[in-house]
Amino acid sequence: MEKNAIDTDIQFLPGVGPKRAAMFRNELGISTIGDLIKTYPFRYIDRSSIIPISAAAPDMAYIQVRARVVETNLFGAKGGIDPADVRFNTVKRMSVKVTDGSGYMELVFFKGIRWMYERLKPGEEYVFFGKPSVFNGHLNMVHPEVDNISSQDSKSGTGDSQTGSRMTGVYPSTEKLRNGGITGKTMNRLMENALNLALPDIEETLPQYLLVEKGLVPIHFALRNIHFPKDTAALEKARYRLKFEELFYLQLSLLKQKYIRCRNENGIRMPKIGDAFNICYNSLPFQLTGAQKRVITEIRDDMKSGHQMNRLLQGDVGSGKTMVAVLTSLIATGNGYQACIMAPTEVLAQQHFKNISRYMAGTGVKTALLTGSSRASERRDIHAGLEDGSTGIIVGTHALLEDNVVFRNLGLAIIDEQHRFGVEQRARLWRKSSCGLPPHVLVMTATPIPRTLAMTLYGDLDVSVIDELPPGRKPIQTITATEGRRYALFKFLKDQIALGRQVFIVYPLIFESEKMDYKNLETGYEQVVKAFPFPPYKTAIVHGQQSNEEKRFNMEAFAAGRADILVATSVIEVGVDVPNASVMVIESAERFGLSQLHQLRGRVGRGSEKSYCILMTGNRISKDSRRRIELMCATENGFELAEEDMKMRGPGDLEGTQQSGLPISLNIASLAKDGMILNDARECAQKVLEEDPKLMLAKNRGLAEEIRKEKYKIRDYSQIS
Ligand code: ADP
Ligand code: MG
Repeated sequence: MEKNAIDTDIQFLPGVGPKRAAMFRNELGISTIGDLIKTYPFRYIDRSSIIPISAAAPDMAYIQVRARVVETNLFGAKGGIDPADVRFNTVKRMSVKVTDGSGYMELVFFKGIRWMYERLKPGEEYVFFGKPSVFNGHLNMVHPEVDNISSQDSKSGTGDSQTGSRMTGVYPSTEKLRNGGITGKTMNRLMENALNLALPDIEETLPQYLLVEKGLVPIHFALRNIHFPKDTAALEKARYRLKFEELFYLQLSLLKQKYIRCRNENGIRMPKIGDAFNICYNSLPFQLTGAQKRVITEIRDDMKSGHQMNRLLQGDVGSGKTMVAVLTSLIATGNGYQACIMAPTEVLAQQHFKNISRYMAGTGVKTALLTGSSRASERRDIHAGLEDGSTGIIVGTHALLEDNVVFRNLGLAIIDEQHRFGVEQRARLWRKSSCGLPPHVLVMTATPIPRTLAMTLYGDLDVSVIDELPPGRKPIQTITATEGRRYALFKFLKDQIALGRQVFIVYPLIFESEKMDYKNLETGYEQVVKAFPFPPYKTAIVHGQQSNEEKRFNMEAFAAGRADILVATSVIEVGVDVPNASVMVIESAERFGLSQLHQLRGRVGRGSEKSYCILMTGNRISKDSRRRIELMCATENGFELAEEDMKMRGPGDLEGTQQSGLPISLNIASLAKDGMILNDARECAQKVLEEDPKLMLAKNRGLAEEIRKEKYKIRDYSQIS
């Protein structure tokens, strides 16, 4: 055995051995005793809370009953099967009637029948755990968990000798583990062994003064009680402490990076506003919204501070982020620096360029566009303009990152739709600054991220939010319909087109089966063309298999009003602005994620006409899909939708986080549910750093050590510069 039990290979834990160790490693990723201890129960069975069957009702959450098996019946495709000539591959369902004297209940199994059939002996008593429901007027439970009474009652096995636990932890498991003999009971026994062995080696991981200040329980108490809770109060304390610790260290490491960045005088000082800014501002055809003004003030303060700006700008589609980008760029040029604005696609770069050029009229600032399809002769001029500094603002795509693009003095980089740019790409942009200091950075996103997630993903960035839409926007009416209403839908679209409006029809694109999706799109397109024949109707199509040239041609035809209908895959998702388009039809809407649906809907409602979003779905869709569609119909607020999305799917699956990835995977805390603890942990980390920014004080030595660990080497924006 090694000195430290925590790092000891799991195979040396009494009761494990090489064979089980391999299973632990492969099935749960557990390779050391420490890993095992960090595997917390996902729920607990409270042996004191067994209820009588007569008290069970279908509206209850999970319940536990203790009951005797009365009889077992097997059913095949054609009905009952005689147990005498049972062949299990023909059994489709097993029904087990149980009673506890107060009433009867039916247990239903569709899977693992053979094993359960052999396990549940008529006349024997078991503890069943599951969700009660009613079927055909009878109380039942589908696929309950089953515990033997003997294992429940015997002192050894469950519970813990140290805490005298009445609650038994239930751990993640797999078929293979169960078949390999690692049952719930075994898990509990191994966990007790692991704790007894390793706890003496585990030192307190938070400084004493924080434990006292925050009223947190010590680590030994927490670990003991997360596995073997003495009672619910002890469990709550253990849970809170472990969640707090996890979120606290995450915030501490993120904020420390930010504190270092802010303390260093490493930013280009841009004290002036400049004439161009004022000319542009004064000639705007509209008033900035309060939110736009606030955000511009925040950005100005950053830019004149002498520190490098690293700011994330979140704002729903149509909230006017482009305007903010324009004015921010003009602050840079007003101070004698160049600005670049990067967009993720060619179409978007072009659109930005067109809008921005319009705002530049009269300011004297030269603007250029550089994309993959810029011609060689154009490129020469563009490169020259950037090198000699005559071009003030460059808009472009990844083409801006190429080595032969050289700036005279890049002072600001604005990145639109952040998640499509990787860290390395951003780093290349940074290096293009030639004045020795990193450019200010503004990352803009229209994918609203819940606050807790933003605090974690971008904990070291400052976050600005435009939470107000320009005035005069009419709400978008969102409706859902199924195939049976297609005729009515087409009729409605014709009416809209007759009024001079344009229509998007979007088909899902799922990467695993691009071919099939293409087929969906093609069939859909044919159907549309048949229903909307030319003349008088003009239909354009845009999809991923077209060349950039084709895409642009078709997009432009639609944007310029030469086509009434644009049939597309979700490539039009980001940023495309066609104010005259007032109807968005989303086909197979159940196949889209919430934030994608929201992005798509944001393509309409940009003009002065009433707009519609029509979500076409199949007749039978999953509960989650149904909920997404309902939410879409219920609210237009992107932040609300993002919060709901996170609750439904967990933060790891949120769009916008998949590519960038969560910086760290959380073991016990949940960004969706533990927002309060996160706030608390962040505030606490802030306080610690205010007093001791470099974590040099003796009392904080443990903190400094902890965040030096590999797992906190999170993406660090300040390092990139
Ligand atoms: P985003 O990039 O956030 O999706 P845009 O910057 O494209 O939004 O703005 C959407 C539309 O709203 C544009 O046509 C823009 O000219 C207009 N707009 C921006 N700010 C305002 C404002 N304060 N008042 C009125 N219209 C505005
Ligand atoms: Mg935009």
